Amino acid sequence: MEHRLHAAPLQDWIQRILQAAGSSATEARTVAANLVLANLSGHDSHGVGMVPRYVDAVLEGGLVPNATARVTTDLGTLLALDGQRGYGQVVGLQAIEMAIARAQQHGSCIMTLAQAHHLGRIGHFAELAVAQGLVALHFVNVQSRPVVAPWGGADGRFGTNPCCIGIPLEGRAPFLLDFATSRVAQGKMRVAHNKGEQVAPGTLIDEHGRPTTDPGVVVVPQSNGLFGALMPFGEYKGFGMAMACELLGGALSGSGTWHRPTDPAVRAVVNGMLTILIDPARLGTQAAFAQEARAFADWVQDGPVAPGFEGVQVAGEPERRARARRAESGIVIDAQTWQELRDAGRKVGYDGGP
Ligand code: NAD
Repeated sequence: MEHRLHAAPLQDWIQRILQAAGSSATEARTVAANLVLANLSGHDSHGVGMVPRYVDAVLEGGLVPNATARVTTDLGTLLALDGQRGYGQVVGLQAIEMAIARAQQHGSCIMTLAQAHHLGRIGHFAELAVAQGLVALHFVNVQSRPVVAPWGGADGRFGTNPCCIGIPLEGRAPFLLDFATSRVAQGKMRVAHNKGEQVAPGTLIDEHGRPTTDPGVVVVPQSNGLFGALMPFGEYKGFGMAMACELLGGALSGSGTWHRPTDPAVRAVVNGMLTILIDPARLGTQAAFAQEARAFADWVQDGPVAPGFEGVQVAGEPERRARARRAESGIVIDAQTWQELRDAGRKVGYDGGP
């Protein structure tokens, strides 16, 4: 049976589990709020369903509660940070707040964050920068399991490496493009698998490299102990973007790239991120930028609507609509995720529910 509940009691429940797993009240609140916002935004893959994995990662030592990011290089507009395996929702916030302050001071900031535990929705960080009038670019790699196959390959070689671009638009909601470079996010396969659903053809290959629609091939080990893989989006172009995210988010940040076989026992998810923030006001193009960006976004949406569509949406709109809808109607947690959350709480000695 699925459960439907509003954001506040869900956040409170998650906070209690995370505190039982060793986080301070402040850290647990920050992580829980971030995860619930992902659910509210329509991205259940990056919402509270991640908590059982986080708890396992804490217990195995791959995720360190109450860690903070350490500055390893500070040259003003160039910042390098080490997340020290802390909660990505916390060290990521610390890192983006520093980068925003530097961009406001100098006009731009290039920031790398290495060894953050799962950063969750990358769009969250772009939203914070865009709210300050900044343009934000993020390239991220994922070290957990090589779940995405290269274009032309038959097994997983890297993660779902997300890319995110946030651009403020004068007088209207921002452009917020935030996506995994796999055809779909790995977390969405977990959600589909938990719901017993099949996924669209062209999304997955099985452990033998054959096309399949069963999301279980990337969620649970298959008969030979191996996993299947997700395909990159956009064929070789998406594969190229995924490699760029690995090279920039993983290598340039010093966080590390993926180049080893899977160890299914390891539960930690480690992200490396390159972030570039630009202040259009300091670039001297603010007036033209504001006018041209707004005019273009309006133009794109003013065209005729294709059959089967309600209209053209600009990136960021689906998330804003989902937030309005789910704030009202509540968040649905499927039975499997619910059970996993209860079990995660019990593992760390918390037996309560919402
Ligand atoms: P997705 O496929 O839902 O695409 C999301 C992007 O496309 C958003 O910018 C959205 O506004 C836009 N979009 C969606 N429908 C649209 C439409 N009809 N018209 C115009 N634009 C539209 O997202 P995804 O690839 O499943 O990624 C989900 C989340 O997972 C992201 O927040 C991403 O950062 C996160 N992620 C995180 C990690 C990590 O390791 N931390 C890894 C992979 C993905």
